[in-house]
Amino acid sequence: MSGLELRELRKAYPEFTLSIDCTVREGSLTTLLGPSGCGKSTALSVITGIEAPSAGQIILAGTDITDLPPWERNIALVFQDYTLFPHMDVSHNIAYGLKIRKMPRRDIEGRSAELLELIGLAGYERRRVHELSGGEQQRVALARALAPQPKLLLLDEPLSALDAKLRIRLRTEIKRIQRELGVTTIYVTHDQEEALDISDEIIVMNNGKIEQSGTPEDIYRNPESLFCGSFIGASSVIPVSELYEDQQSSLHSREGLLFFRPEDVHLHGERPCSPCITFSGSQLTRKAYRGFYYEYFFSWKGHTVRSQGDGSLQEQQAYTLAVSADRCLILPEG
Ligand code: ADP
Repeated sequence: MSGLELRELRKAYPEFTLSIDCTVREGSLTTLLGPSGCGKSTALSVITGIEAPSAGQIILAGTDITDLPPWERNIALVFQDYTLFPHMDVSHNIAYGLKIRKMPRRDIEGRSAELLELIGLAGYERRRVHELSGGEQQRVALARALAPQPKLLLLDEPLSALDAKLRIRLRTEIKRIQRELGVTTIYVTHDQEEALDISDEIIVMNNGKIEQSGTPEDIYRNPESLFCGSFIGASSVIPVSELYEDQQSSLHSREGLLFFRPEDVHLHGERPCSPCITFSGSQLTRKAYRGFYYEYFFSWKGHTVRSQGDGSLQEQQAYTLAVSADRCLILPEG
């Protein structure tokens, strides 16, 4: 098995324990997603060898690297704050790792040119670091990391320092470059939209553990816990016990939390649905303009039901909402 395997990997600090077991498929871009403090950086430190694990094994491309020093692991790391060498120009920055590996000079030049082309900065060889924008610096940092052809690329919140528009552009670029090279990549982020956009697979972490892993579609459509469901995308959650009795029996459950997405909620009778779960007397408390649609917030028995539409519904009016049972999940409480 190539790619990366983390086998029962543990890192125990006095007040926090990371405990994960997973596989990152060869050539995939896999995101570690979770709130601040869930253990993403700890996982990276152990994978890179900056920290020794308390237990477990790290297998990269079939080789056990658990006890190797960081510089023998063939892993490249890109942080959010570029960390380029300010006194070197772009081509020297990119060539740095290759010189250390004593690659012949002609080969270094060829490889640098190839990478500059790949990151869309051909012709920038002699530019100094301070002459580059934030986005360009991050591309050069990526090229420098990729130059020695690492077996694993780790991107630690690489776009956090950039503005929103540039972040979206650059993540598309990162995905393109990653696909083109086919390098196994772990992308760390706390930004769920970024994770949905860029990932082949997402590993959702919470409190040092893996909550769920799967494709973005899997995680969005079939969250296994309330944590995953509410961390990724908007949703509504209603205790099943508060639904009408006939609705409870159509769900084959009288316990747990009914979970559904805003795009599946509509006015009763507006779309076919069977069986239909209805929320009569839902009061529209707020509608928020989102550009090409409005987001609606209704109140039903004190719970918020979220929906979306063209803005034609009136605030403070009551409506009967509906959602098809096959668009709902029942998640465990707590
Ligand atoms: P994230 O990257 O998801 O924000 P971290 O991995 O940085 O989370 O931190 C997870 C937990 O591990 C935090 O509670 C943090 O205080 C703790 N932690 C991180 N590094 C150390 C350390 N060197 N010593 C003790 N505790 C640490």
